[in-house]
Amino acid sequence: MPELPEVEVIRRGLAPELEGRRFLTVHGGDKSLRRQSSLKELRHWLAGRRLIALRRRGKYLLFDLEGGATLLIHLGMTGRLMLGPPPSPTLPHVHLVFCLEGGLELRFQDTRRFGQVLIFPPGAKPYPLDQVGREPFSRQVTPAWLAEMARGRSRPVKNFLLDSRMLAGIGNIYACEILFAAGIHPAAPVSRLSLEQWDRALKGTRRILRAAIRRGGTTINDYLNSRGEQGLFQLELKVYGREGEPCGRCGRPIERLTQAGRSTFFCAVCQE
Ligand SMILES: [Zn+2]
Repeated sequence: MPELPEVEVIRRGLAPELEGRRFLTVHGGDKSLRRQSSLKELRHWLAGRRLIALRRRGKYLLFDLEGGATLLIHLGMTGRLMLGPPPSPTLPHVHLVFCLEGGLELRFQDTRRFGQVLIFPPGAKPYPLDQVGREPFSRQVTPAWLAEMARGRSRPVKNFLLDSRMLAGIGNIYACEILFAAGIHPAAPVSRLSLEQWDRALKGTRRILRAAIRRGGTTINDYLNSRGEQGLFQLELKVYGREGEPCGRCGRPIERLTQAGRSTFFCAVCQE
């Protein structure tokens, strides 16, 4: 599932090609995505409009259009955005094709169709963003703020990091890696973490997310960037998916536990 780094890599790949370029029209298949504006609505607000800016908020991509409308895209579990010249290759599961001036097509492909493609007219606030917390790189996120958010809560720090209403864009893979980098046990109750531990958690968060962006994201199953290339950060994962393998720091086997229905990978020696 694409997390913040993968979405940011896609944004950085698309922005130089798309910003300033005009949308011509939109084509779609028979099946729609989990949440999708109609083709009629999409065409109405996109056709003939230039893309002013391509932004990211959490795991959402936001296309700011001339005239004030906003196109919001979420890749869901298996969504991909591919940019290339027409005609579209006969790829399976291409749900939407955005035709752009200058002979380019942006294709939204999604085998499981959990993705979202929604258009918001000028002045309409994209409602999915109401649920999105602070950006991990924002100056508003500090160790003190994290400690404040955690006060009086007993839930494990891993689940806290996964809560996108607090910190946006962190999913299961990166939460595991962040806690290993910070030396914090994933089951530690958040209210018991010291300010010094929150400082390490935040530094770990930023370091891991930055490194993952630099390496083009993580490809475990489906993720490809807008040129159809895999990410490389999976080669640098220290604990995720490594149950039973020796910890790179202490040599003891990496362990796995289940938290909120998801697998957590960690080193019981290096993470207290
Ligand atoms: Zn270890």
